[in-house]
Amino acid sequence: MRRLAVWIVSCAAILLMSHPAAAIEMPDGVSEKVIEWRRDLHANPELGNRESRTAAKVAAHLRALGMEVHEGIAHTGVIGYLQGGLPGPFLALRADMDALPVTEQVDVPFASKVTTQYRGETVGVMHACGHDTHVAMLMGLAETLASQRESLTGNVLFIFQPAEEGAPEGEEGGAQLMLAEGLFSDKYYGKPDAVMGMHVTSRLPVGFLGLKSGPMMASSDTFSIHVVGKQTHGSRPWQGIDPIVVGSEIVLSLQSIVSREIDITGTPSVVTVGQFRAGIRQNIIPDSADLLGTIRSFDPALREQVIAAIERRAKGVAAAAGTTAEFKLHPGGYAVTVNDPELTARLRPVLEATVGKQRVITMPLITGAEDFSFYAREVPGLFYFVGVTPTDKDAAQAPSNHSPLFYVDEAGMAVGMRAMLAAVNSFMAGE
Ligand SMILES: [Zn+2]
Ligand SMILES: [Zn+2]
Repeated sequence: MRRLAVWIVSCAAILLMSHPAAAIEMPDGVSEKVIEWRRDLHANPELGNRESRTAAKVAAHLRALGMEVHEGIAHTGVIGYLQGGLPGPFLALRADMDALPVTEQVDVPFASKVTTQYRGETVGVMHACGHDTHVAMLMGLAETLASQRESLTGNVLFIFQPAEEGAPEGEEGGAQLMLAEGLFSDKYYGKPDAVMGMHVTSRLPVGFLGLKSGPMMASSDTFSIHVVGKQTHGSRPWQGIDPIVVGSEIVLSLQSIVSREIDITGTPSVVTVGQFRAGIRQNIIPDSADLLGTIRSFDPALREQVIAAIERRAKGVAAAAGTTAEFKLHPGGYAVTVNDPELTARLRPVLEATVGKQRVITMPLITGAEDFSFYAREVPGLFYFVGVTPTDKDAAQAPSNHSPLFYVDEAGMAVGMRAMLAAVNSFMAGE
């Protein structure tokens, strides 16, 4: 009798062990909560490195779910660690928390009325990039996975990151700072096997997802050029060196980098001068000019080539005019966002099965940048876009992310979460 009992127990144990863990499903009511959280976050947006209210809300939620929580990483970053009931892989999921200095013009009851000081001016603050939805969706996924942790194979790290849009001047922040503070080190839970994230976009309608294997979003670097001139009366230019003319020649010369120096059969690059500051009045040739610009690229070697060309041309043009120019590459640039080809090949069919094959769009290269790139440089990464433009509107004409009119159809959030949950289930099951 006792032997039989032992036999039954061990058979049951073997059965339990060999039986694949049930796929985790979203409990009823989570989608509604996510919409509620998103509206609260939307009405209370915070700029990068200042997301203290958002972070407190996230931390309280993760704690209530019984997770190990760490706060104050990279200023306001929060992480939660969920241990599954069964052994398996270690996956990181990331959401960014910061808003933008944009004055909201969308007519919704929870529109932001928040203002703040930014670079010496009073500006509106708005979740114009949709990071409010990212936070709410990841809170919803945290609740979903925590509710069924016994059947979760492996462990999940929830990353709520500050300052994706860049840290305030003179500060560090974002993914780079979280990693520098040991996010993927033994200080916390070590390196995950993979990292995943999503971003809402007006460029796709609700129900659609977008991704691309390999490089998907550009690297982004800021550069400045200081042109040294010699101040003189505007009526007697021969007695000075005009930095406005030299600066203008530099701007024109930079236009030839992409058109004449870069192999255009490869990936594209962009060089833009977005700011040109010099002078005070019409009849004084100033003593200096300052240019500020951005570089976008999809290839690390090409990026280096463009940077070197800008410096060479700036200095060369200045030398030809008998003066000097100082070139500076600013710290805090973003790397190319690369979707790991193997992980993408594995999970794209899962996304397709969730929303329909025709509704997973292969994105063209995007010259925008994302600091998710830094996590995906450390471990295999998957980053995809979630459509949030109402289906009765033309996504191509919809106000883009960062616009004061950026509008999120909240139905898109449920689609994003369903897709991520399916990807998590598949990844954790080792499929
Ligand atoms: Zn943005
Ligand atoms: Zn964004």
